[in-house]
Amino acid sequence: MPELPEVETVRRTLVSWSKNRVIKDVIIHYNNVLEDITFDEFKTKIVGQRINDISRMGKYLIFILDENALISHLRMEGKYFYLDTLNDEDEYIKKHKIITFVLDKGYLIYHDVRKFGKMKLSLKDNYASDKSLAKLGKEPFDINALQLYNRLHNLNKCIKQCLLDQSVMAGLGNIYVDEVLFDACILPTRKARGVSQEECQIIIDSSIKILNRAIELKGSTIATYHFNNNESGGFQNEHKVYGKKGCNCVRCGVKIEKMVVGGRGTYYCHNCQK
Ligand SMILES: [Zn+2]
Repeated sequence: MPELPEVETVRRTLVSWSKNRVIKDVIIHYNNVLEDITFDEFKTKIVGQRINDISRMGKYLIFILDENALISHLRMEGKYFYLDTLNDEDEYIKKHKIITFVLDKGYLIYHDVRKFGKMKLSLKDNYASDKSLAKLGKEPFDINALQLYNRLHNLNKCIKQCLLDQSVMAGLGNIYVDEVLFDACILPTRKARGVSQEECQIIIDSSIKILNRAIELKGSTIATYHFNNNESGGFQNEHKVYGKKGCNCVRCGVKIEKMVVGGRGTYYCHNCQK
């Protein structure tokens, strides 16, 4: 599943493809992608509007149009393609395309093998209060240690589960939580309420460092994440624990272990992380 660095990479690609383009038409191939709106209503509203910018909140992409904001969540395997002409469509794009935006120059195609991704429309000026976005916590770039501490110290779950909860802090998914907790030397199974304010600062610092590096390398390609018409990310080559079961810890040399925490495969060093 794309996490913050992957979604940010997609956002930057979308800016280069579609910023300042006008939506001339929309063709739907799979109706269930739309939430809380019929296709006819969706089409009537967005055709003629310009894509003035593409923003991001957590793992949500937001196309800022003249009147509306189009909110897009990629979920498991959603991705965008840009084609100059529909003659460039290959069988893979044709088979799994969900919606095609005909722009004044080129075609922006939302594609989703698993069909879990969603799109909805909101008003441009108050999209942040849309129910999907309003519940998001702050990102590591915006939260401070006291705010994170206040969110964690009443929670009865372990720290990994709490950091995966996008209402506590937005942007970390399964891969980056494991990398952050390793960097911060905190065991994923620690009770969140036992994490000190000082450790919250370390978690924030580790999150910013790791997310920035991952954004710089255009994300991690583990199974299917690609951007920019099938380019791969590079951060998977710098993972220190995720997917490293049985490898030697880069800090202390003992073997990286794997366990299940809240239903998610979790990698850690039992020696470095306390
Ligand atoms: Zn270690």
